[in-house]
Amino acid sequence: MTRPAQISIRQIALTFVAGLLILIGLIGGIAAYQTRSVTNSLEQHSQQAASAELRAVVERLLGRTASQADTLAAWDETRQQLVTPEYYAYWRDQRAYEGGILVNRLARTALYRDSGQILAAGGSMPAQLPAARLLPERSSWFSQESGITMLNVVFPVYRESGGQALLGYGLLRFDFMNELVQHNQFHFVDPASISLTLQAGEALNVSQLYSRMQFSARTDPDQLKFQAIFSRTLLALLALLILAALAGFVIYNHLLVRPLGQLSREINAMQQGQFNLAVDHSAPMQLGELERIRRSLHDYQLQLRELHGSLEDQNREFHSQARQDALTGCHNRRAYEEDWEHFRANLHLHPQGVAFLLFDCDRFKTINDTYGHAKGDRVLTLIADALVMALRANDRLYRLGGDEFATFLSRTTPAQAKQIAQRCHSLIDAASFKELGINEPVGISIGIAFCEASQLEHIDELPKQADVAMYTAKQPGRTRIALYGDDAERASQTLVASLETSALFQALATPGMIEMHYQPIHALPGRKLAYYEALARIRYNGQLIMPGAFLPVVSSRRLETEFDTAVLQQIEMDIASDQLPPGSGLSINLSAQSISNAEIVSQLLELSRHNARYPMVLEITETSLITQMTEVRTYLDLLRSLNYRIAMDDFGTGYSPLRYLVDLPVDVVKFDISLVNKLAQNDRAGQVVADFARMMRDAGYALVAEGIESEEVLLKVESLGFEHAQGFFLGRPVALAQISQTPSPEPWHDTDSSVFA
Ligand code: C2E
Ligand code: MG
Ligand code: MG
Repeated sequence: MTRPAQISIRQIALTFVAGLLILIGLIGGIAAYQTRSVTNSLEQHSQQAASAELRAVVERLLGRTASQADTLAAWDETRQQLVTPEYYAYWRDQRAYEGGILVNRLARTALYRDSGQILAAGGSMPAQLPAARLLPERSSWFSQESGITMLNVVFPVYRESGGQALLGYGLLRFDFMNELVQHNQFHFVDPASISLTLQAGEALNVSQLYSRMQFSARTDPDQLKFQAIFSRTLLALLALLILAALAGFVIYNHLLVRPLGQLSREINAMQQGQFNLAVDHSAPMQLGELERIRRSLHDYQLQLRELHGSLEDQNREFHSQARQDALTGCHNRRAYEEDWEHFRANLHLHPQGVAFLLFDCDRFKTINDTYGHAKGDRVLTLIADALVMALRANDRLYRLGGDEFATFLSRTTPAQAKQIAQRCHSLIDAASFKELGINEPVGISIGIAFCEASQLEHIDELPKQADVAMYTAKQPGRTRIALYGDDAERASQTLVASLETSALFQALATPGMIEMHYQPIHALPGRKLAYYEALARIRYNGQLIMPGAFLPVVSSRRLETEFDTAVLQQIEMDIASDQLPPGSGLSINLSAQSISNAEIVSQLLELSRHNARYPMVLEITETSLITQMTEVRTYLDLLRSLNYRIAMDDFGTGYSPLRYLVDLPVDVVKFDISLVNKLAQNDRAGQVVADFARMMRDAGYALVAEGIESEEVLLKVESLGFEHAQGFFLGRPVALAQISQTPSPEPWHDTDSSVFA
């Protein structure tokens, strides 16, 4: 999407000022035009006035000349001179002026005979009148002589007034232009500008005078004054407007554009997370509205800064909480992963000996089951406290999950690591578990792995090695502290590390490596073969590895579901091979973790289609069943609805309180070999177990006795009402191929086995 073209507030201001200046220019232009036309009309007016004035003066002059000519024509002395010119020169130069007949002193007159010839020569008057002027009427014209414009008036002189007898002619002439300019007052006409264009020898009639006359009007001083004032006012006004526009722009810029720019920069800074207050209150913004915005912004900035600060605090808090184990207060697995990663990555900067210590509480599940989770939690807290106390000041204790703790010691030696482990032991031994009401000794096993400063390239192997050492430490008869690679431990560790672990991992990845052996279980009384228990072994390099060797690796590596998946696949294959006698029941061992695993459940769903031919029992050990009861209860109901029977295995090995045992969602209870062997004793313990068996049977459970090794014990369990018995005395676990050599079990529906009832 394209953004609309944007225009800045400063550009708007510039456009506004430019527009204003254009407007001012337009107004100025119009005003100048108006002034011009007013001036023109004033000039026109004065031209007209001048023209009228000039005409009036000329007409007056012509009229006066005509009347002088008429006076001369009618004067006796004029007639007399024409008849007898006795004192003609005197008349001409004196008399004509006396008595005011000729007003104009410069005017000259002369008399002519009726033929047009001058009466007496002399003066500047022409000797002969033009024939065209010898008329019965007075006639006037202008002529050019020696650069002077003359007005000539010829008038006929008659013997008597109004008579017909012509005596001759008179001529009156004078310098017209001189007379006009010198002896007249002009108000509108500039006298210096009056001129008349006339060719030498040309005779211009009076009627043509105005077409040849040029003049200019006198400039009106008032008009000039008016023009000057008008122009000055206009200029001043324009200058004022331009100044006002510029001042407006500067003020607008100062009050609006710059503060807005500053606000925008502050908002930008806030957007980039800079909450340092940039607002300078020493110089508040001059516009009230902008100042209010700035104050709001400032308040907002303050709030944001506080919020930012508290968010940072919360962040730190969350971070430390996220790294802390809620129960024991020590660091959690996440902190372990981060710290170990960071520690390893920086080791090359300061090469040093590093020890990795794993701690595991012995038989913690049993304690949990026996005394409840609340006590179990207290035990873990006490252990964590003791371990923290035993470690050096800068060492960190991490809880990796359940009852497993770890630490890594920097700048250390194997001896020092062992010493610290020893201190952990001593402090835990000294811890007051008895105060919690726990009578059994609570102990921990410690697996240690060490890496020399010169062999830091193997640092990644430390946790695995500590795990292996832990397994060694947990073996019966050990001191419960084991250092990986210690001479004394090497033999067993090599075995553990190289055989079970690799056998297990290989078996999980290779179908067919897990081999199921089948141990018969007989119905009582009658001892008929009823069903088989499927027991896993790993075939590895021609050797058969037993559950006692590989199951600890399964549980320490948390591989329960992977292992059970592989077992179920193998059982499915065994069924498909048709070597299992049809009708024989199958008992399958599962870990409690698997029961709530979706993949296992769907695998069991698939397997349940064989249930009609091979009725099936699922065995889960007492300890794991009780610990995970809440998680698995619904799944057990689901599996029961698929016709699986549920058996509690190894009953009697845990410390499960009675109240848990009486209400179990199981159909079958398998008494562990340790309990069964007690039955054979005719002492109080035997009596108690026997009573207990009766009680369980009365509660509706089907009872199976495991580990029957003699006739004597078999008879005992038979007499106690056990429905089934299993043991070497009745039959050992055998490979699938060997089953056909053992007698076929009774079809389950033909037996009165209550396991499948
Ligand atoms: P369990 O389920 O209680 O199996 C019975 C164990 O007792 C078997 O040991 C069996 O060989 C042994 N046994 C049977 N009769 C006698 C006897 O008369 N005397 C003595 N001393 N022992 C007898 P095994 O096969 O070594 O299995 C050990 C445990 O490993 C099993 O105990 C079971 O909890 C677990 N296990 C075996 N196979 C599987 C499996 O496929 N999946 C799972 N999750 N666990 C398995
Ligand atoms: Mg079993
Ligand atoms: Mg058992």
